[in-house]
Amino acid sequence: MEQDIDRILITDRELAQRVDEMAAQIAACYSDDDAGLILVPILSGSIIFLSDLIRRLPMKMKLGLITVSSYAGATTESNAAELVMDLNVDIRGRHVLVVDDILDTGKTLRLVKERLHQRAPRSIRTAVLLRKPSKAPPDVTADFVGFEIADEFVVGYGLDYDGHYRNFPHIAVLKEEHY
Ligand code: 5GP
Ligand code: MG
Repeated sequence: MEQDIDRILITDRELAQRVDEMAAQIAACYSDDDAGLILVPILSGSIIFLSDLIRRLPMKMKLGLITVSSYAGATTESNAAELVMDLNVDIRGRHVLVVDDILDTGKTLRLVKERLHQRAPRSIRTAVLLRKPSKAPPDVTADFVGFEIADEFVVGYGLDYDGHYRNFPHIAVLKEEHY
């Protein structure tokens, strides 16, 4: 795996430190919450971020899992985001925090937020580890953002290329011949 990596953009230590800061922000935001927080991670890219984040959050919460697929193997646009598994917990009247790995074109978050709205939660906020500001449209924003990165395809810390590299501990760019 290591030999496929061209360069590391964000190290595991930097990730850990930033996730600490994000957890503090999120905890402050929901500190007086009596409506029961539901975290909705978008599978599978958010799993490592999620597992680090939730263990730093002190409040009671439930998880509601959803999967949105872009196209398998594609490194570029998630042309039409498609919801392939629906939410498995009741979010009506609850505070919802959507967690995703990366906000790129915004299609994924737009779709997920629309679907969640239909189920009448009390609030919907979003936390993303990474954001590519060059492409993010003005109407799809994230309330909590870990890092802003340039518009290049990254892997590691949960993010894959064609299913691989999710277990690489840093955020990195692959050597060109591996895309
Ligand atoms: P959006 O719908 O905002 O264009 O894209 C969000 C989804 O596309 C992310 O959840 C992620 O699955 C995928 N994606 C976008 N950019 C990257 C990237 O640089 N690397 C990886 N591995 N996935 C990405
Ligand atoms: Mg994703």
